[in-house]
Amino acid sequence: MSAPAMKGKVYLMGAGPGDPDLLTVKALRVLRAAEVVLHDDLVSSKILDLIPASTQVRNVGKRCGQAAISQEKIHSLLTSAAREGRQVVRLKGGDPLLFGRVGEEMEALSLAGIDFEVVPGVTSAMGAAAAAKIPLTDRRFASKLVFVSNHAAGDTPAVWDDVISQDATHVVYMPGADYSEIAARLSAGGLNGRTPCLVVANATLAEQQIHRTTLHQLALEPRLPAPALLIVGQVARPLPHFEQGEKASPRAASKPHEEVLHLTDTPIRA
Ligand code: SAH
Repeated sequence: MSAPAMKGKVYLMGAGPGDPDLLTVKALRVLRAAEVVLHDDLVSSKILDLIPASTQVRNVGKRCGQAAISQEKIHSLLTSAAREGRQVVRLKGGDPLLFGRVGEEMEALSLAGIDFEVVPGVTSAMGAAAAAKIPLTDRRFASKLVFVSNHAAGDTPAVWDDVISQDATHVVYMPGADYSEIAARLSAGGLNGRTPCLVVANATLAEQQIHRTTLHQLALEPRLPAPALLIVGQVARPLPHFEQGEKASPRAASKPHEEVLHLTDTPIRA
């Protein structure tokens, strides 16, 4: 009797924003066991270095705005490798469910009856916010967090004017080359010119750049290298600085009415 064929599976997986330390434990485990990896351009070389030499690796991303390989071709590569019984990783920058074409890939896999699983990743907004120390939903300034794409799908322009709000933090993915149009849209949405803005390029990588500006100045800012994103809202203001010589010890800095709570003294609730 012949052995049953190995069942192939596709992992739609996030590689995080670039720093390999931000890969999830699961992503690393799956990557090490993969037989085929199809990755996007955004996946950093340090992460690709973690893939075993025996694995078949192919870049299916877009280069210089040109589609290197069609979406349909990606679907057929995923489907055929899984049908051959292989463990396939579709590796995407950040989180796979955000601003990629994962919806189309899921539909194609589902229609083909291929087993697949989504492995989340740290989206670049979170990598950028952590790098720049931005409290995205600081309750004093923001009750909403909106992720928007500035990239048009086909001929239809991206519409996000309806989500601009003074008490929101806006993260603009794929800001493109012209920040002035974004600045104009945010201003038209009611944000004032003093609203703090950050441009974060290559977040979490050695080439990371963080540029702090205001909505008023944003249009004049030089474009940072891709990939970059914008964080716009009051939360992006600079943190207050520690003044040397003033209230230097943490004890002195605490407010007079603050109590030190010893955990061992905490009453246990029934
Ligand atoms: N799925 C990805 C987003 C893909 S869209 C995620 O969750 O992050 C591609 C856009 O993501 C880029 O144009 C850029 O705006 C942003 N991006 C990805 N990696 C980045 C990084 N390391 N630093 C800054 N922005 C990044």
